[in-house]
Amino acid sequence: MATKVLFVGSECYPFIKTGGLADVMGALPKALVADGVDARVIIPKYGCLPQEYKDRMRHVCDFWMDLGCTGDHFVGVESFEMGGVTYYFLDDEDYFSWGSPYTEMYNDIERFIFFDKAVLAALPVIGWRPDVIHCHDWQAGLVPVYLRSLFYDTDLSRHAKCAITIHNLRFQGVCERSRMQAVSGLPDECFALDKCGYSSAANGYRPDGNMLKGGIVYADRVTTVSDTYAYEIQTPEYGEDLDGIMRYHASKMVGIVNGIDYEVNDPATDKKIAQNYSVDDVIEGKRANKLALQRTLGLEEDPDKMVIGLVSRLTNQKGLDLVGAVVDRMIDGNTQFALLGTGDAEFEGMFRNAEWSHRGAVCSSIMYDSARSSQIYAGADVMLVPSRFEPCGLTQLIAMRYGALPIVRETGGLRDTVEPYNEYEETGVGFSFSAYDAGQLLNCINYAKTVYFTRRHSWDAMVRRAMGRDFSWNVSAKKYEDLYRQMVG
Ligand code: ADP
Repeated sequence: MATKVLFVGSECYPFIKTGGLADVMGALPKALVADGVDARVIIPKYGCLPQEYKDRMRHVCDFWMDLGCTGDHFVGVESFEMGGVTYYFLDDEDYFSWGSPYTEMYNDIERFIFFDKAVLAALPVIGWRPDVIHCHDWQAGLVPVYLRSLFYDTDLSRHAKCAITIHNLRFQGVCERSRMQAVSGLPDECFALDKCGYSSAANGYRPDGNMLKGGIVYADRVTTVSDTYAYEIQTPEYGEDLDGIMRYHASKMVGIVNGIDYEVNDPATDKKIAQNYSVDDVIEGKRANKLALQRTLGLEEDPDKMVIGLVSRLTNQKGLDLVGAVVDRMIDGNTQFALLGTGDAEFEGMFRNAEWSHRGAVCSSIMYDSARSSQIYAGADVMLVPSRFEPCGLTQLIAMRYGALPIVRETGGLRDTVEPYNEYEETGVGFSFSAYDAGQLLNCINYAKTVYFTRRHSWDAMVRRAMGRDFSWNVSAKKYEDLYRQMVG
């Protein structure tokens, strides 16, 4: 019998995406289904989901559910099948008809507490009992807590194992303990300090509740999205104040690096780019895409210039202060910079300024645009990913798939996936630097420029090597299957 796995999370490509979590929730179930696993996905039915999907959903069931002090709520379940995967959408007008998809933390906590309980309440009504419930990030953090407390005496709890994947430890879903307890209706013991209870210097010793922490404590297995990140989050530097709990639960932790969807991210078939190419004609293909990109972005049209790309959420995590510190020295007569991102006003302003100061050599697209992101991956020679921390990172993987060499800081998944160039042995698929330091980033960029402008043969060989690496879900999906097998026993 096929193992039954339910993915629980707040976003899933192609329905709704704000970051890498959506890519994983979209691609991993597809890869598992291809291997014979019965993988299904459940996310909220947000009002902002594209109408084309809403029109094609089928009503599965509905019922009423109580939720702590907030009373009874309607729960509707709709479903949609695509590529062998069944997607469930959990509907409640009060909670999910608004937001894009998130609102602000105060509301989101209550919305996702509702979601977590409703997922478990819905399963018997749907009539499908998973062997493993695979939760993702803080939004699904209370699923393991509910499963082992309020749902303790159910067939589901006796049968199902629970895993939680930490995509980014920075976001934990924290609010006052009294509110979390009142809304969730969870018993006192769930809020002990070694469970969902949370109080430390980082939150001013307030008595808080922490959804992700609860998930980590109550889940049978905890996974993170790279080996290095699994290690890093056990240290105070990267532990986001949960390093103690991570060390305590280290024995149930495992790091499995993300893959990327090789159908969605394929320069040979991507309709959004000017000219399709594969590893066989990558050099000509990238040249054509570079010219098209330069035209689109209003950069000087010259295929001999080096184009440095950056596609990112514009937040403090992504090392953008380092880029800001070096951008004036990075741009020279032979180098251009194409940025795509949205986020903190501080960084949006910084990159708009860079564009104004270097007209024709820098273009800052302050927007979220998947067509433009493909065009940058296809047209750029290098992609910057200088993150302060990076649990896995997909940008560097997509970059390599499109033959753009990544320049990364050696942290988390960046360290695990980008083998740095070794000029003596002609190995490696990118460039990396270790300390969080603008000087090191600039040195690294200058080294890449030297190889690009003076050793083009080596560069082109490296581009082909990068494209030849397998970052599809094939490898990682097998690791998850092993994990599920161990859990189910
Ligand atoms: P995170 O999840 O921390 O944002 P990842 O590197 O894991 O970072 O995933 C980011 C994903 O979002 C990549 O697929 C990247 O191409 C995409 N992305 C980020 N910003 C934009 C944007 N402004 N427009 C289009 N795609 C974007």
